[in-house]
Amino acid sequence: MTIGFIGLGIMGSRMAANLQHAGKQLIIFNRTPAKAEALIANGAQLATNPAEVGRHSATIITMLAHPQAVEAAALDHAGFLDQLQAGALWIDCSTGNPAFARRMAAEAAKRGVAFIDAPVTGSKGQAEAGQLVFLAGGNVEDLAAADELFSCMGRQTIHVGIHGMGTALKLVFNLLLANAMASFAEGLAFGESLGISRETLLDTLLGAPIVAPFLSFKRAKLANNSYAAEFPLRWMHKDLAMVAAAESSAAIPLATTTAALYQQALECGLGDQDFSAIAQLFQADEQPTMLKQ
Ligand code: NAP
Repeated sequence: MTIGFIGLGIMGSRMAANLQHAGKQLIIFNRTPAKAEALIANGAQLATNPAEVGRHSATIITMLAHPQAVEAAALDHAGFLDQLQAGALWIDCSTGNPAFARRMAAEAAKRGVAFIDAPVTGSKGQAEAGQLVFLAGGNVEDLAAADELFSCMGRQTIHVGIHGMGTALKLVFNLLLANAMASFAEGLAFGESLGISRETLLDTLLGAPIVAPFLSFKRAKLANNSYAAEFPLRWMHKDLAMVAAAESSAAIPLATTTAALYQQALECGLGDQDFSAIAQLFQADEQPTMLKQ
C-alpha cells in the first residue's frame, strides 16, 4: 500500500524517512522539490502536485507549516481531497487549531474520507529517531487503522478525544513551551546583568527543578549564541496566534505577553532561527524598544 506524504520540512522529511525505513512505499510532494531528493533516492515517487498524491494513496499524511498551507494542499484545484477514494484516511500532523481540524474533518467526511488530527510533540531529534508523541483527535477505529504508521514515526500515540482535541492539547503544550523559553531567557539576562556568567547560569539552572527539562536540549544554542532551527521561531509565533484565536474562555495573560515578545523577535529577523533565539531579544545590546520600557 502506497502512503502519501505532503510537507517535507524539518519534521516531515524525517517522519517520511522513518516510514521508508519501515518498508513503506511513499508518494511525496513538497512545494520545494529539492527537499524530496533523499527520499526519492531511497525509492519514493515524487508527485507534481497534491492531487497526484491523492490519486495514488489510500492513506495520506500532511506535515505542513500552517492551516493555510494544509487547506491549499487539501482543497485547492490541485488538492488531494477530491482525489482520494471513499474509505481513505487523512492524518494531519501539522500544528493548526481545533476549529480548523474540525472543519477539515467535515470536508473529509463529505467525501467519505476519515480524518485524524495528530500534531506531534518532540522536535527535529525526536522526528529523526522515530520518538515523536502523537496527540490525536478522531475516531477510535481510525486511530486503530493508523496505529502501525504512528509507531513507525513515534513512540506513543495519545488519543485525546474527538476531532480537534489532539490539536487542542498541542496548543497547551506550545503555550507552555513558549512561556518557559521566554521566561528562561529573561532569567539568563537578569543573571548576566547582575554579573553572573552565562556558563555559571547554565550550569546551575539547567537540570534544577525550577526550569523545564526541555531547556537542557537548548544548552548548546544558548551557550554559543547560535540558533540553527530545530523548531523555527516563526512557527512558534504562529502557534501562539492559534492559542490567542482558540475558542477558549480562559484568561491567558502570560501567553499574550509571550506572543508579543515572539512578534518582536520576528520583526527583528529571527523567524528562521530556532525559537530559543528569543534569548537574543533579551541581550542588553540588542534589546528592542518593548524590553527597554
Ligand atoms: P518547516 O521545516 O518550515 O517545514 C514546513 C513545511 O510546510 C515545508 O514542507 C514547507 O514547504 C511547507 N510550507 C510552508 N508554507 C507553505 C505554503 N504556503 N504552501 C505550501 N507549503 C508550505 O517546518 P517544520 O518544523 O517541519 O514544521 C511543520 C509543522 O510541524 C508545523 O505546523 C510546526 O508548527 C509543527 N511542529 C514543528 C516542530 C519542530 O520542532 N520543528 C515540532 C512540533 C510540531 P517548503 O519546503 O517549500 O518551504
